[in-house]
Amino acid sequence: MGVQNAVADLPAMKSDPKFIFFTDFDGTITLQDSNDFMTDNIGYGRDKRRQGNLDCLADRISFRDSFRDMMDSVTKPYDQCIQYLVDNIKLDPGFAEFFQWSLQNNIPVVVLSSGMEPVIQALLHKLVGPDASKMQVIGNNVGARQGKNINEEGGWQIVFKHPESGFGHDKSIELRKYSSLPEDVRPTMFYAGDGVSDLSAARETDLLFAKKGHDLISYCAREDVPFTVFEDWTNILSKCREIVEEKTTVKEAAKEGYEAYKRGDAGVKVNTTK
Ligand SMILES: [Mg+2]
Repeated sequence: MGVQNAVADLPAMKSDPKFIFFTDFDGTITLQDSNDFMTDNIGYGRDKRRQGNLDCLADRISFRDSFRDMMDSVTKPYDQCIQYLVDNIKLDPGFAEFFQWSLQNNIPVVVLSSGMEPVIQALLHKLVGPDASKMQVIGNNVGARQGKNINEEGGWQIVFKHPESGFGHDKSIELRKYSSLPEDVRPTMFYAGDGVSDLSAARETDLLFAKKGHDLISYCAREDVPFTVFEDWTNILSKCREIVEEKTTVKEAAKEGYEAYKRGDAGVKVNTTK
């Protein structure tokens, strides 16, 4: 396949951008993780859900299987789940400004999520407004259980994008379509995330923003994946501005995260055995 064909298959490449911002959705663009929120409040509860996250980080269960478990514990009709989330989930305070800046600077934003696309579309529309349609959203989906309708009690289930992968949605597959482009076409790739759903993406981009105090930081430090720390999207916006204006480089920014972690400034316990 020629380069032109490879590029034509990638909507984010249409404007020939120098930078693309890939991002997780839950707990990264939003303040709360909508799937955790459902599981904790109308599913099997926080303790069991948190244990699932820890088991996944420790490789005792795949992300796909622990996530399916969580979603199976939520039996409310799907339309009511969406409404419940639209009523409760809030946007990161800096995201709207970042997104407007990205639109003005030809930096496409691509959402890569382990959540379900209909939920994400509904939340983005509520939180960002009509411009939300300018963001490409790639996630898992939802389907009806046999003989049922998704909008009845116990009627829906998660449908994974990559059911054969332990990640359910293997975010690295989409990222590699970009990272494998030839040097002169390949944009600089950013990624922002917070948790176990981002492990498949962590190694694939040029600069990884990992959310302060969350699981992704512990993972990156343990696995020697370079990252930089953010608390909210105002940090991401100022760092991206510096890079776009060539006041710093992606490499320098990537070194900072591990240094912050070692100083104990990344909001997670420092593993001194390493
Ligand atoms: Mg997340």
